Amino acid sequence: MKQIQSFFLLLFGLSFLLSACGESEYEKDVVAETDGQHTPQYALVIHGGAGTIKPKKMDAQTRVAYEQALEEALDRGEAVLREGGTALDAVVAAITSMEDSPLFNAGRGAVFTHEGHNELDASIMDGKTHAAGAVGGVRKVKNPILAARAVMEKSPHVLLTCAGADRFAVEQGLDTVDPSYFYTERRWKSLQRRLEKERKAQPVGETLEEQEHKFGTVGCVALDQYGNLAAGTSTGGMTNKRWKRLGDSPIIGAGTYADNASCAVSCTGHGEFFIREAVAHDMSARMLYLGETVQQAGDYIIHQKLKALGGDGGLIALDRQGNIAMPFNTSGMYRAYVKPDERMVAIFKEGE
Ligand code: ASP
Repeated sequence: MKQIQSFFLLLFGLSFLLSACGESEYEKDVVAETDGQHTPQYALVIHGGAGTIKPKKMDAQTRVAYEQALEEALDRGEAVLREGGTALDAVVAAITSMEDSPLFNAGRGAVFTHEGHNELDASIMDGKTHAAGAVGGVRKVKNPILAARAVMEKSPHVLLTCAGADRFAVEQGLDTVDPSYFYTERRWKSLQRRLEKERKAQPVGETLEEQEHKFGTVGCVALDQYGNLAAGTSTGGMTNKRWKRLGDSPIIGAGTYADNASCAVSCTGHGEFFIREAVAHDMSARMLYLGETVQQAGDYIIHQKLKALGGDGGLIALDRQGNIAMPFNTSGMYRAYVKPDERMVAIFKEGE
C-alpha cells in the first residue's frame, strides 16, 4: 500500500516539475487565462486593401502577381504560428512581407502625398495585454509595422508621428531607407493624374470607389496556439493627401484593434469614415455587448452602418475560436486566410 502511495506521490511530483519546466512564463499565463484550455488551432487572415478591383479590369499577369504576394505573406505568417510563435510575431511577419512588395499601398509601394512624398502609417495591438503601438507620417523607416511594434514595446507611448517617429525608429536601430526606395511609377502616375484633375478643376469623386488606386493598404489578424489574438495594419494612406493627414490605419480602435475577449480587426478603406465610426473597436464592442458573432458584427458595420454614411472599404476580423469575417462594400478586396488545414486567397466578390 505504502509503495503505491509513494508511486503516486512521485508521479504527481514529476508531472508538476514537467509542467513547470516545459512551459514558458508566457504559455503558463495563457493556460491560466483560458482555464487550462489550449487553443489547439491557429489562424491567420490578411488583406491587401479594398477598392475598385474588377475582374475585367485586371489582366491575368497582374492577378497572378497579387495572388502570389498574398500567398507569400500567408506563408511567412503561418510559418511563425506553426512553429509555436506568437500572434504578434505572425502579424509582423505577414505585414513586412506585404510592405516589401511594390504591389501594395504600404511600405515600398506607398501612394504619394500632394507634395510628392511618401508618408507611411502603421499600428499593431496585442489582444492579450491590450498593449498597442503606432506610427503616423514616417518617411524613412523601411518597415513601418516594425516601428509601430517598437513604439508598443520600447516607449511609454502609443502613437508617434512624423519626424519624431522616424527619429525614434533610428534610435531603435530599425532599418531606414532613402525616400526613393518608396517610389513606384504606378503610384507616381496616379498622383500626377489626380493633380491634373485638380488643375482642371474636374471632380475627383467623393467615394473610394470613384477614386483611383486608393486600395492597397495591408493588414493582418492572427490567433496563435496559446489562444492569443493580435492585429496590425500598414498603409501609405490616400493619394494626394495633404497637411499631414492621418487615416484610420495608425489609430487604435479605428483601423486596428485586438482583444482576446472578442476579436482582432484590421480595416481598409476611406479612413475618415473608419475614424468617425471607431470601426475596429465597434467590432469588438458589438461582439462583447450585443453577443454578435464576428460575421454579424462585420456585416452590420460594413454593409449597413458605413454604407449608409457613404464610407467605402472592408475589414478582416478573427475571434479566439478561429472564426473569420472578411466583409467589404467595394467591388473587391485583396484577402486571404490560412488555418492548419484550410487556405483561401481571393480578390473579387464571390463568384467573380
Ligand atoms: N484606410 C487607409 C487610409 O484612409 C486607406 C486604405 O485603406 O486604402 O489611410
